[in-house]
Amino acid sequence: MISIIMFWIRNKKVYGVIKVILKSFLVILALIVIKIIITAYPNMFFWHSITYKNFSVHSTQVIDNRIYKILDKATSNLTTFKINDTNAVYRVYLCQSSSFYHTLIFPYVAKSIAFNFPHTNMIFIKNADVLKDIANIEDMDDTRKLSKVITHEITHTFEEKVFQNAKIPFSNVETWKTEGYCDLVGYNDTLDITNAKEFIKGHKNTIMTFKDIRREYYFAVSYLVYFEKMSFEDILKSNLTLTEVLDKIENIR
Ligand SMILES: [Zn+2]
Repeated sequence: MISIIMFWIRNKKVYGVIKVILKSFLVILALIVIKIIITAYPNMFFWHSITYKNFSVHSTQVIDNRIYKILDKATSNLTTFKINDTNAVYRVYLCQSSSFYHTLIFPYVAKSIAFNFPHTNMIFIKNADVLKDIANIEDMDDTRKLSKVITHEITHTFEEKVFQNAKIPFSNVETWKTEGYCDLVGYNDTLDITNAKEFIKGHKNTIMTFKDIRREYYFAVSYLVYFEKMSFEDILKSNLTLTEVLDKIENIR
């Protein structure tokens, strides 16, 4: 057996292949280690930071004073829905460049405006502009208020706790429920039923954009919260489909 192995190792071709495989493995391992370090200690790349209430905000640029108003708005929205965890410290990372953002969150979802690591309360936001109070996904023409993005992402952290407490596996959770609820808390608006009915009617059997789909999620969850007085946990456990909820909205007199 040993003599066979020695023969293979002595064979130059096989030795060359083994060398390439080993080198590739070491490069991949090094990249994984670098990625883990970057994700665990992102502060080293963000030279400017402020702490305010239960937020710790980090940025690659000087942080404008408007950040306090933005954080106040996020706190107010979260408090309205009783999901502001005052014992938690929400670490918000404002990325001014989208390539930097994608490097930080790689290999997670590419087309996103923000990414949340709920277990570490770390939120990365793409193309964040504190002065204008916006963040955007440039290739999808989707610009949103920074305060709403922060609120939306913190609501995901709250949802994660609800899944755990209710022992609901994440794979069983429908996107329209989670995204719709995050947008509801983020917008913190009362539901404009006339607008919702017109929107749903006007988008039936049409090809919808990412923004349109999200709008329907928002309308559906808002209806369940404001009209059927359901909590997020009630919505999660409900067997209602998105289509059924949209039909209910359309049929409101
Ligand atoms: Zn989301």
